This record gives sequence, C-alpha cells and structure tokens, in this order.
Amino acid sequence: MIQFSSLNIIDPILKSLEEEGYTTPTPIQAQAIPIVLKGTDLLGCAQTGTGKTAAFAIPILQQLAKNKSFAGKRKARALIITPTRELAIQINDSFKAYGRHTGLKSTVIFGGVNQNPQTRSLRAGVDIIVATPGRLLDLMNQGHVNLRDVGFFVLDEADRMLDMGFIHDVNKLLDALPRNRQSLFFSATMPPEIVKLSNTILDNPMKVSVTPVSSTVDIIKQSVYFVDKPKKNALLVEVLKNPEIKTALVFSRTKHGADKIVRHLHKNNIKAEAIHGNKGQNARQRALKNFKAQTTRILVATDIAARGIDVDNLSYVINYDTSNIAETYVHRIGRTGRAGAKGTAISFCNAEEKEFLKDIEKLIKKSISVVENHPFPLMDHNPIKTTQQQGNRNQSRRGPRAQENKNRNQNNWNKNKKKKKWYGKPSTSR
Ligand code: AMP
Repeated sequence: MIQFSSLNIIDPILKSLEEEGYTTPTPIQAQAIPIVLKGTDLLGCAQTGTGKTAAFAIPILQQLAKNKSFAGKRKARALIITPTRELAIQINDSFKAYGRHTGLKSTVIFGGVNQNPQTRSLRAGVDIIVATPGRLLDLMNQGHVNLRDVGFFVLDEADRMLDMGFIHDVNKLLDALPRNRQSLFFSATMPPEIVKLSNTILDNPMKVSVTPVSSTVDIIKQSVYFVDKPKKNALLVEVLKNPEIKTALVFSRTKHGADKIVRHLHKNNIKAEAIHGNKGQNARQRALKNFKAQTTRILVATDIAARGIDVDNLSYVINYDTSNIAETYVHRIGRTGRAGAKGTAISFCNAEEKEFLKDIEKLIKKSISVVENHPFPLMDHNPIKTTQQQGNRNQSRRGPRAQENKNRNQNNWNKNKKKKKWYGKPSTSR
C-alpha cells in the first residue's frame, strides 16, 4: 500500500498529516499528488468524502513552501474557488491543518458577513486565498485583492458552481488570473458543459477519476421507510428513539420544511437546529459548531447548505424528503461513511416520491432495503393527485378497508415492538 512518505512530500507536511491521524493516502490523493507536484494541470472527477481537499492542498502547500520568500508583504500565490461558504471554511481549515508547520498563511473569503475582518487579513498579506466567487469579485472591485501573483488555481465542485449560476463570476475571475499558472479542476460529475468549462481553464491536463458515484455508497447501510407525508414528523421522532443515533443530519427539500422539522423536534424535546440559505452566516456556523460538538443532536439542512459539510464520525443521515435528483441522494448520504467509516442512511418515502426512489436505485445499481414494520406505514398509495383522485383518496381512507389495514399494521407493530427493536433492522424484501 502506498504511504504518504513515498509521495515525496516534505517533512513539515508529513508531520501535520501524522498529527491529523492520516496513515495512508486515499485513492484520489495517491493519484493526484504526484501529478500536481510535477506542475501538470489536473482534471479530477471526485466528490466530497474522497479526500480530494488534501489531494490538492498538500501539493499546493508543498510547492508554495519550496518557493517561499518572506521578503516584503506576502502575495496571494494560490486561489481556491468553491461554491459555498461552508466548503470555503472547511477548505481553509484543511490548508491551515496540513500547512501548520510550513509557515504559510491562508485566509477565507465569503459573502453574507461583514467584509472588514476579511479585508484586514488580506491587507496583512496571505499566501493562499480560499473564496466563494461573489465576495471575492466584490473585494477585487474595491481594490482589496489582486490575483496577479496567483500561480496555483483550483476550481472546486465545478458542477455545483454551474448549478448555482456562478458561471459568469467564474469567467470574470479567470480573466483576472495570470495565464502562466497551474490549474486544478474538480467536479463530481462531468456533463458536457463541465468538460467545456474545464477546457477553457486547463492546459493539457492529466485526468484522474475515483469512485464513480455508484460505488461510494456501497459501504453505507441504506434503508427506506414508506410513509405518508403527514406522518413523517411522527416517524422521525420514532426513529430518533434509537439510542444508537447520537447525532444525525436530516435533509429537507425546502428551507421552510427544515424550520418546520426543527420546531416539531423541539416539541418532542429533541435538540435540533436548521442550516439553510435564509440563516445568517453566523447562525449557520454556530449550528454547525454545536452539531460537531454534539450539543445539538440533529442538524436539519437543505441540499445547498449541506453540500460539503464535513463532520467527523457522522454515522446517520436521514432523508426526510426523498430527493428528486438521484445524484443528490448520493451526495447526501456521502456525508456519512467518510474515509472508510461506517454510515447509515435512512430515507422517508411517500407515494409521490416512489418514482424518485426508483431513479436512485437505478443510479446506485442496487435496491434499498425496506423497513416493513414501523408504526406509520404508507396508507395513501396514490402518487398523482388530481382533484378527482384526491376525493377518492379521502373516501377510501375513511372506508372500512383502510381502517382494517390500519388496525392490522398497528397490531403488527405492537407485536414486533414487544419482540424486538424494529429500528435499524430493515428487511430485505420489498
Ligand atoms: P474531503 O473529500 O476532502 O472532504 O475529505 C473527506 C474526509 O476525509 C475529511 O474528514 C478528511 O479529514 C478525511 N481524510 C482526507 N484524507 C484522509 C486520509 N488520507 N486518511 C484519513 N482521512 C482522510
């Protein structure tokens, strides 16, 4: 097995990797580090959770450290652009951790907060800037940053960057970068528009690709509960009775939904906080910190806010809403089971979401175990709600057959409850 020491990494960085507890490089690190150290451009197809941050941070730190000059004010020689504030903060933390014995300085720039602390650190001089595109452009326009000395450029999560509408900002940043630079480009997916964008940035790149989307999820234990939408809150509280769930990241499709879930959990004395775009940056960071410290048990997040959240030892992800985009499901559950750790992903699926579940199973090329015996089984099997069907549905729900089903399910649940714990024991049948 390849060791970090066989990758020609300098001692100050090896020392910090040891302090981080990293013993062996992940596949993306083993492939990318030698390429980047050689000075070649890189096109990386990898998602968060594969160790891609260290795959670019380590060789960039090493090259900066080797050509370090402390004469005069430090100039920004490396720029990392990433779509979300949370990711930017995490990447900066990684640069600080891996570079702590190199004497290099990094800073993070993102919007939604007062710009003064950011401009102060820029004025003091930094070697590395990690930024979201909007605020960086803003500070450039105000004359607080120039990118003239950037020799290393990383575009991280390029697909998400495009999804979030940052393409114009990225193009403006590219115009401000020197032509003579080394560029690294990372994306979880490589649709044609991403390949096109990469061609405008990279010069004769080497390509590395790790763990195609479908195989990263293999180590994660996945199950699905079929449940009616109005019963999801009650089911969530039931599921959280499992004492093995010390903390869980719960995904909600909407910001409003996330707040509602938090309110319901509070009513049931479960400590929860929401993290989404309507929350101020400080509130988001506080929620994340409380969650990491396990003082908050449940973090409810929307997809964009959760993108890239890196919580060590997160073992449970709960999809309160089944995602309508199969790749999003993979990103969501990828928050757990990181760097080889164990992970469990639980999804709640109502009748309308069954179609989404099919797409997900097609993408991950396996069927997800169904938890059959739980107290809130799906009663309403009508996925499409025309007015006519809505009427029928209400009728049938009130009818004797529905009541029979309900009684039978409740009896089964009571029997099973006496026999064994039902949570976390998915059956394999459908
Ligand atoms: P990333 O894909 O960069 O977000 O990294 C995912 C997680 O893996 C982070 O918590 C890293 O700290 C961790 N990690 C990265 N590289 C290694 C490694 N070589 N050994 C152990 N953990 C690692």
